Amino acid sequence: MNYISTRGGTESLPLAELLTRGTANNGGLFVPQQWPDAPADLLDGEYAEIATRVLLYFGGDTLPAGLIETAINTAMQKFTAPVGPPVNPLDNNLWTLELMHGPTLAFKDFALAPLAEIIDSKLKHDNKRATVLCATSGDTGAATVSAFANRERVNAVVLFPDGGVSDFQRRQMTTTGAGNILPLCVDGDFDDCQRTVKTLYLTQAAEKYGYTAVNSINIVRILLQTAYYLKTSGFIHRTTGEASNYFVPTGNFGNVYAAYIAKQLGAPINTLVVTSNDNDVLPRFFETSRMHGTQTVKTISPSMDIQVSSNFERLLWHIKQGDTTAVDHAQQALETSGGYEISAEEMDRIAEDFTAWRCAEPEAISAIQSVWQKHQKIICPHTATAYHAADKLANTLSGQNVIVETAHPAKFSNAIELAIGEVPTIPAHVKDQFQQQEQYQQVSVDGVQQAIDDRFG
Ligand SMILES: *Cc1c(COP(=O)(O)O)cnc(C)c1O
Repeated sequence: MNYISTRGGTESLPLAELLTRGTANNGGLFVPQQWPDAPADLLDGEYAEIATRVLLYFGGDTLPAGLIETAINTAMQKFTAPVGPPVNPLDNNLWTLELMHGPTLAFKDFALAPLAEIIDSKLKHDNKRATVLCATSGDTGAATVSAFANRERVNAVVLFPDGGVSDFQRRQMTTTGAGNILPLCVDGDFDDCQRTVKTLYLTQAAEKYGYTAVNSINIVRILLQTAYYLKTSGFIHRTTGEASNYFVPTGNFGNVYAAYIAKQLGAPINTLVVTSNDNDVLPRFFETSRMHGTQTVKTISPSMDIQVSSNFERLLWHIKQGDTTAVDHAQQALETSGGYEISAEEMDRIAEDFTAWRCAEPEAISAIQSVWQKHQKIICPHTATAYHAADKLANTLSGQNVIVETAHPAKFSNAIELAIGEVPTIPAHVKDQFQQQEQYQQVSVDGVQQAIDDRFG
């Protein structure tokens, strides 16, 4: 089974080639050429078993035998819940799916920890080396550093904006002491970091160092996330006899797209609720059938401060039933003339699986307060948008309701203290980083390549 671009063209690649690929050459995202038949054994078992089966179904059999299974099992040993994320009852017909028990306390660990293991094993097998480049506003950089620290075959360079990440997140990137990790604090904002990375891919150094991306449009990352929706909805169905609705804090549409794949594979899922903060490009799209971004505003849930939801392009491809020319036109319009519109029929198709909800900043703060008062539980500011949506929408949906907890509140202690006057306890397995010496370099945008040469040249 090969993967093709959502925007057409002749590029067609096996999964093994997509481990370290970002977009297709024509700017589209890779999607499977044929959707595999829904397998029967995906709803029961531990996370690592289900994730292995999903990757094998989606073309992982093009990798050396046993590589995926071993890699995922090894990666899960770094989680405090190695059998998979806990799903706990919170209230009547209401559950929380705790995705924050990984090494960096955010759901991105589920994608990056196994992916790093798979990439490193594959490079060993092929006798090659690579250098991961990553621009980050926080969580992705932390998960990347943790996943790649002390790898044999891969170096990792993370660029973060000076003053643009929390102390907690900076420490996650700068205290590993690993010789293969180069954290760079860049004079500039996140966009400067992103632009620098994009430029470096096009230089001669790219070949020499094997510059590589592991960003959130990577299909392997998404498939690794699909596994926890299969596991959880299977469990809830066996326990209650009902299907689940998921309330998913959304930025780039990766995590909720993973849930959509689970539903396509036959998981008992009814509605997927996309929740946003004040950056409400998706709720506006659901209201108006028109996709167009506006100015990004800063909120207490920074990982959702996004106006271009990259992975939505994949859903558009499904909704347009594989019409790659139509997807290409829509995406061109989004990039050049500020937006595209879909038909009423297409919106009906989306509404069969999705709905959206906007949670303004004061509502997120009161959500954190009510969960604390009612349940003595602290949720992170991203998760708060999902709780708020569940509070308003749960009784309009049929089935069980699941709030997806995307990060641990300790990563966002300022916002939490503001809301409830308490500081969340930092889990024991990450406390260490507050004792370690920080190691990073301060560089200008033009000094990044020199810093890489000095360390890895
Ligand atoms: C990345 C992130 C999100 C957004 O996830 P997408 O897959 O980009 O939609 C939400 N919450 C947290 C804590 C994150 O780190």
